[in-house]
Formats: sequence, structure tokens, C-alpha cells
Amino acid sequence: MMSPRPDLGPKPSLGYIANILERAAERRTDDAFVAALVADEGARAYAIGGELIVLKKGANGLDPLFTPAEVQALAATTETIFLGLADRAGRFGIGLDAKATEALKSRADLHVSDLRSIAVQGLTDNGHLSAIAEAKALLHWHARHRFCANCGAPTRIVQGGWRRDCPVCEVQHFPRTDPVVIMLAVTGDRCLLGRSRRFVPNMWSCLAGFVEPGESIEQAVRRETLEEAGITCGRVSYFASQPWPFPMSLMIGCHAQALTSDIVVDRTELEDARWFDREEVALMLLRRHPDSLGTPPPVAIAHHIIRAWVEDEAQGFV
Ligand SMILES: [Zn+2]
Repeated sequence: MMSPRPDLGPKPSLGYIANILERAAERRTDDAFVAALVADEGARAYAIGGELIVLKKGANGLDPLFTPAEVQALAATTETIFLGLADRAGRFGIGLDAKATEALKSRADLHVSDLRSIAVQGLTDNGHLSAIAEAKALLHWHARHRFCANCGAPTRIVQGGWRRDCPVCEVQHFPRTDPVVIMLAVTGDRCLLGRSRRFVPNMWSCLAGFVEPGESIEQAVRRETLEEAGITCGRVSYFASQPWPFPMSLMIGCHAQALTSDIVVDRTELEDARWFDREEVALMLLRRHPDSLGTPPPVAIAHHIIRAWVEDEAQGFV
């Protein structure tokens, strides 16, 4: 028999998915339209230097939006990306030189931090997080795709930052998103959690890994769970997905039916993996675990995958 469903309180929101922008993808090809938006007084931009995001300190707290001219004045800029429209005004992501952005940390009128910290500390609302994620992933792609992968010639940015074209061999290069499966293997009243060495102490989470070419989501879930923890999985059920701009992934959240129970941890991938029962995981989600063990914060999809199982909403496969 399963234990009764624990009360975990109101559901927190997942990070990076509350997009506030109309992407207006069909207008990206219209250079004059995009140029007019940049020049318009309503234009606003996020300022991003590598992993760092620049926020403005204001009377009403931290503001992630700058005018394009304000961004130009911060540091040397790289690409300008057309992210979409907000109330018909253009919203952009502007890249800054990473070293110069690091130096901005000393400015009293700015708050310069990495996106993970901004998200976990709730320094800006979820809508901005999504737009910053979009900008950060695209700027990262540009920074690493300045030359044609086909012929080696320098490429040029087109379509508001959504494509790079090679002027020599005429190949078009599109920004990529890397699919990652993130899954909770479960059997009855137990689930499998692991710890990476990169995690903060006492945090346990879902296993995860990149989907390989020629592989379905279900196959990737089974392969990664077997590789990392030695557990064979049967049925796989899709839960939800989340853009994860570190640097440019799409997390595909799943639950999986564990068919075996003897764990063999791949120590090159994980520090540890073990089974947890539902009551213990409920305490971890509530931050009331006696040994202070915890789960990832609500901004991450792992929190929601784990919570859905604890709350018995991941039905139909266990
Ligand atoms: Zn080329």
C-alpha cells in the first residue's frame, strides 16, 4: 500500500517558462523593421556578458531592462539579438564583453550576477527569467559559431540573431538547442535520486543526460539510468519540459518505471545514488529533513518531477 499523499502546500512556479514576449518570428527577416525597433524609444534590452547578467539598481528594486544606448555605455558589446515584442516595443538581448562585465561588479548602481543565482534568489520575475534565458542561450551560440562549420570562413549574423550565414559557401547556420532527459525512476513507494559532485552539499536530484543522435527520449531515459545507476527501466512517461540556458539545453522531464533495484553507481558521473521513500522525499521538498537533505529549488524542473511523484500525480506508470 502507498502512504497517504503528503500536503506540500501551494505549487511553486517553474523557472524560465513564463515567456512574456511575443516572439514575432515572422518579422525577423525584415531588417528595416528590426532596425526601427532598436531605434525606437520603447526599445529595451537585457545586458549579458558570458554567464553574467547585469541588473540596474532602482527605487523599486532590481531592473533587468536597459535602453540599447545604456547597454552600449556599460562595456564593449557583441551581438544584438531580437528576442521579440513586449506591448509592440522591441525587446533585445545585447552581449557584453565577458571580462568587462566582470569589472562592472564594482559599480554601486548595478547588480551583476550569474543567472542561476538571480533565479534561485528571485531577483527578477519569472517572465524576465525566460527572456534572459532566450538571450543568454542565443548569445552563447553566437560566441561559439563565428566561423562556418562547413568551410571555416567567418560567418555573419542575420535575421535579428536567429541565423548566421556563410558568405563563401552560402551555408546557413541555425542556433541549436541540446535536448537533455531528466528523469525520476520510481517503483512503488521509492524513487531513485543521485548526487553529482557539482551539487551543493546534501542536495539530491533526478538523474539526467544528453539525448544522443538516433535516440528517442524513452531510450535516452533508459540508457542514462542504466549507465549512471545500473537500474533497468521499463515504461517512460513524459512530464514537462524546461528551457535550461546553461548553456543552451532543453530539459525533458520524465518519470520512469524501475524494473530492478540493485544500484551500481557510475562514480565518474555521480558521487552517489540511492533509493528514497516517499515520506523522506516529502520532508526534503519541505526542507524539514532530519539530516538536512534537500531537493533542487522550484526554479528547476527536477523539483517538479520529484514533487509530482510525491503527490501521486505521476500516475499511470507506477
Ligand atoms: Zn562556409
